[in-house]
Amino acid sequence: MCSDFTHAVVLDFEATCDEQAPPRPQEVIEFPSVLVDVAAREIVDEFTAFVRPLHHPQLTEFCTALTSIRSEDVADAELFRDVFARHQAWLTRHDLHERRAIAVTCGDWDLGRMLPIQCAAVEPPISTVPPFYARWHNLKRMFCTVMHRSKAPGMGGMLNALKLQLVGRHHRGVDDCRNLAAILVALLEAGGSLEVTAERRYPPT
Ligand code: AMP
Ligand code: MG
Ligand code: MG
Repeated sequence: MCSDFTHAVVLDFEATCDEQAPPRPQEVIEFPSVLVDVAAREIVDEFTAFVRPLHHPQLTEFCTALTSIRSEDVADAELFRDVFARHQAWLTRHDLHERRAIAVTCGDWDLGRMLPIQCAAVEPPISTVPPFYARWHNLKRMFCTVMHRSKAPGMGGMLNALKLQLVGRHHRGVDDCRNLAAILVALLEAGGSLEVTAERRYPPT
């Protein structure tokens, strides 16, 4: 796969959750991204938004303790459909599309599991999701290649291994994006390659 991407869009959803199992259906509550200029190795913009969950608008104490996001933070927020449209408009303002930019996530959960769950739970239909969100780079893969490991730790472990300080609060989406962007920049500096590591094909309507 090509690695000619000029930009990386680090993306990290936060979602409704609880101690034992997440509420069904699980819903996105924060949709942040940090835009990295690959050649310059620097952050050039951020997108951040809370998302109002439709099915379980009251966040659990566990969820607030984990993410720092309170029910009142999401009560007046836009629905996923509208935040998602603004995220797409933000990409377009930066003249980004799937040939120039790639989404970067920690693992495959965000775009591989949570996005389809969100689309099934509320909207938009998964079949209308733009191709940009149907493929991504799992940062753990780059970590394993660059650090010669067979298995990647979580974000905290990757920061430690690269001697990077945690900024902000772990499990707050925008802070996770900033920390993952720092990991990405360090791995690119060390020779990491930004390739597509996962791809989905959503059936047309
Ligand atoms: P993260 O990006 O690691 O902050 O996690 C994304 C989402 O996964 C969170 O918003 C929660 O919905 C869920 N999650 C993460 N860690 C836990 C955990 N220890 N227990 C339950 N849910 C979790
Ligand atoms: Mg995450
Ligand atoms: Mg997170």
